[in-house]
Amino acid sequence: MLTPLSLTSSFGFGDRLGLATPGHIAAVRRTNFMPVFAQQSVRENARTDRTPQQVMDDAKRAVEAAKWDSPWGADADHLKALDDIPPFVEAGYTFFTVDPGEYVDNSVDTDSFEILKQKVSAFNWEELSVLYLNQNGEQVWGDFAAESLMRATIKYGRAIQHAASMFKRLFQMKAEFDFEVSVDETDSPTTPLEHFYIANELTRLGVRFTSLAPRLIGRFEKGVDFIGDLNALDNELEKHAAVTSHFGTYKLSLHSGSDKFNVYPLLVKYWGGRIHVKTAGTSYLEALRVLASYEPDLFMKIYSLGCEHYKTDKKTYHVSAELNDLPNTNDLPSLLNDFHARQVLHVTFGSALVQFGVELKAALIKHEAAYYDGLKTHFEKHLLLLKEPE
Ligand SMILES: [Zn+2]
Repeated sequence: MLTPLSLTSSFGFGDRLGLATPGHIAAVRRTNFMPVFAQQSVRENARTDRTPQQVMDDAKRAVEAAKWDSPWGADADHLKALDDIPPFVEAGYTFFTVDPGEYVDNSVDTDSFEILKQKVSAFNWEELSVLYLNQNGEQVWGDFAAESLMRATIKYGRAIQHAASMFKRLFQMKAEFDFEVSVDETDSPTTPLEHFYIANELTRLGVRFTSLAPRLIGRFEKGVDFIGDLNALDNELEKHAAVTSHFGTYKLSLHSGSDKFNVYPLLVKYWGGRIHVKTAGTSYLEALRVLASYEPDLFMKIYSLGCEHYKTDKKTYHVSAELNDLPNTNDLPSLLNDFHARQVLHVTFGSALVQFGVELKAALIKHEAAYYDGLKTHFEKHLLLLKEPE
């Protein structure tokens, strides 16, 4: 049953090829996670040359074939503009992720106090200071003074307004839906105070959001585990959790959520059953793992093309793999366990599909049992670590 999932723990399985849902179903069965089987961003739709309707149809077909009769969701991911919305509403999506990242002012972290004063005059500063600061200029919630309020306002004020207009447009078109606000792809991390500010302003503007994806500290790169200081992340997440529990109205959402095995226990520790985790490209990497074992020639063509296109294709992603550090090996499946090869293959999926999409899909259909098995194993590993203790 395609439906909004609200505050239940949920897991997003992006499927760029339209063939992975049976494996996703096998992994999520018998867990408490509510799955999102159709999930594609506007950028992914462009790179895979699929429409929101096609993504939905592929997921539905698999759901019906597997007789999955529990709730599931469909996520219109990283919507940036008002015009992005209608095709997803028409195709019946239930979960809308709005990414107002273009409206975030990333320079605020280094702006001088003089510049801050100028910039903040574009906002309703008087109202905000009455709302957020006591008479001594200190924040009512936490220890945050006029300057940090200015920074939060300038950094996120326009993004919040944009997210609110996206919500209003959707609300004119649909009565019930999950609504997520994501600022995970911005340059600088969202501090816990900024997180509070975003959640509070959205609430004040009447935006009923069910999840929020802050940009966390450290690096959450595509297809690999967390890079950074895990203890520092632990401390930071504890503060973010204080914010989410203050509101109690939304889930924490983790984007680029695949393969972050070191982080999942922390999510469980602080949020228990109130999280949403998004994955996408990792299912494509599992598809390539099948080729590496069963269709080595095709795999090598995709790998070589990936190496050629990596420099260009990586520009819109957070990755740090280096071509010079690719392993020199004839053991093709082992490349799918290598940090650098995984990222190279991950971000060049669009180029690979343009050239080898037809062959790739035919190969996966031929080896579908191996593909579904690989997906099941890979995602069971994720879901087990994300499971709340009984
Ligand atoms: Zn994201």
